[in-house]
Amino acid sequence: MHKVSLFRSIQLKFIVIFILLLLVTIQIIGAYFVRGLETELRENFEESIEATVGIMEVNLKQAFSKDRSDDNPDTPSLEDEVQDIVQVNNTRDVKIQVMNMQSRIIASNDTTGGSNIGKKTTKDFITNVLRNGNENKSNVYDEENNRIYRRAVPIYDDEHTQTGALYVEASLEGVYSQLNDINSVFLKGSALAITISAFLGILVARAITRPIQEMRGQAQKMAREDFSQKVNVYGKDEIGQLAESFNDLNAKLKHSRALTEEERRKLSLVLSNMSDGVIATDRNGYITLLNDAAGMLIHQETEEAEGKFLLDVLQLEDRSVDISELPDSGSMIIDFSDENTIFEIRAKFSTITDEDQDVSGFITVLSDVTEQQEIERERREFVSNVSHELRTPLTTMRSYIEALTEGAWEDKTIAPKFLQVTQNETDRMIRMVNDLLQLSRMDNRSESLHQEQVDFINFFHGVIDRFEMNVSEHITLERDLPEGSLDVWLDQDKMVQVLDNVISNAVKYSPEGGVIHFDAAVQNGQLLASVTDEGTGIPYDKVDKIFDRFYRADKARSRKLGGTGLGLAITREIVEAHQGSIWAKSKEGKGTTILFTLPLENQKRRGD
Ligand code: ATP
Ligand code: MG
Repeated sequence: MHKVSLFRSIQLKFIVIFILLLLVTIQIIGAYFVRGLETELRENFEESIEATVGIMEVNLKQAFSKDRSDDNPDTPSLEDEVQDIVQVNNTRDVKIQVMNMQSRIIASNDTTGGSNIGKKTTKDFITNVLRNGNENKSNVYDEENNRIYRRAVPIYDDEHTQTGALYVEASLEGVYSQLNDINSVFLKGSALAITISAFLGILVARAITRPIQEMRGQAQKMAREDFSQKVNVYGKDEIGQLAESFNDLNAKLKHSRALTEEERRKLSLVLSNMSDGVIATDRNGYITLLNDAAGMLIHQETEEAEGKFLLDVLQLEDRSVDISELPDSGSMIIDFSDENTIFEIRAKFSTITDEDQDVSGFITVLSDVTEQQEIERERREFVSNVSHELRTPLTTMRSYIEALTEGAWEDKTIAPKFLQVTQNETDRMIRMVNDLLQLSRMDNRSESLHQEQVDFINFFHGVIDRFEMNVSEHITLERDLPEGSLDVWLDQDKMVQVLDNVISNAVKYSPEGGVIHFDAAVQNGQLLASVTDEGTGIPYDKVDKIFDRFYRADKARSRKLGGTGLGLAITREIVEAHQGSIWAKSKEGKGTTILFTLPLENQKRRGD
């Protein structure tokens, strides 16, 4: 989590504001208080000095007015009396001097640096009083830079003549040191108050910022899609309400995320279980999503294909298709065939638009249409084959009939031959049309099998016996059939058709003196029968095709032998209708084996 440094934290801001407020308050209070206290203390001090001065003024006036003629020998001298008065009013830190009109100090309590009595004062502050008879007072700094309060008053006798001056000098340092003491107490108090309030500030800030910090942490978690926790609600105030709204928001986000998540899961489940391939791209045609089916169809790993260009992946780049011109909800067939396999895909395109109808991407749905295309192709081929097969006998017939009409009918030797040919061709056509009809009925499942329980060994012997009677002496039939019986559930007429076809092919393609071998056995719980000849064989790459309609391995030879190429096709349909399968093994020039299986009756019962 990104941590906020202490210097930027809201907590510190709270504490600083708190302390600043307190400082300003204390400063203002302190300034008023100290100023008031100073004035008060000084006034008190000056008043007390003034009181002393007042008392001394009266006493000195009396002393100066006394008659000191020789008639009163008991009266002490002026100097002594005045000195007494000074001593009586002597206080610590207060200097008192009394001057006569000649500026001589006649009494003093100042003994620093020896007695100064009898000396002439030079201070302007005093001589001014002596000269003018006016009072004087001032606050100054003395030589030692101490604050002092000076006061000088004139002294009169009973006749109101000025007889001298009184000078009082008091140090104000006591007052100021008292003030300093008070100030220091005040400062200590302030410091204590600030410390306590800073501490309180921390507590208050904590209380306020804790929910905010919690919400901040929660918001960061929510940004990481973690909606598991809630924040604590500490009260009903704005922050409490904010926390409540926050929890609400959290719950709603959690819910909507769960919904989207579910939708996403559903979508991905649908996509991964679809047999159709789905490719989603952005507006430029780069793949953003691809399901497994699509990956399989276009032979690309899902992760590998993401980010690739759609047209590259669909191998459309050389078809000069523009991504923006892809047909909306149109489709195209894309040929993915290589030399060995045919593989065709139908791609359906649709565009995704946003609210403003701007294209935001494309969805391509892919489906494998190889089989469909194959069937389509087979159908077309079939029609052309039928037309072709019918045209050959028809043209032959027409030329013979033309010859006959042009006079050949009169020729007793040629006419019957020609008529024989036309009859053969007609037979061939009828046979072919009958074969086609049968195939078509089987295709449409309109011909039902009349199945019954038959011993296949016995049945097989019967069919071979019939052939043995007709086949030329040059061909040997060899049976390798087991003793006993093998019951099969089959339509006898149809199965006769199957064996007729397979055996007649074997006979047809067998050379003079060839051997045809018949086999029957039980394999994997099924009846496996086979007919092997020593004939021409079928080329390796054509073995599987001989069961296709109209397919003849060697066209010229087969046609000469009167084949239509439908025999094995019908055979296969019949065997498959019996839940069996048929296939061929062959070596060119060595011979051919046709094998087919049929479900055994008892096995089938058990299976039911
Ligand atoms: P039809 O059976 O309709 O008279 P057909 O015998 O030519 O005509 P199919 O029985 O379907 O047609 O056989 C298809 C082709 O398979 C034949 O034309 C032949 O080329 C080849 N074929 C079938 N059986 C053999 C075989 N035993 N030996 C060699 N080629 C065979
Ligand atoms: Mg045949």
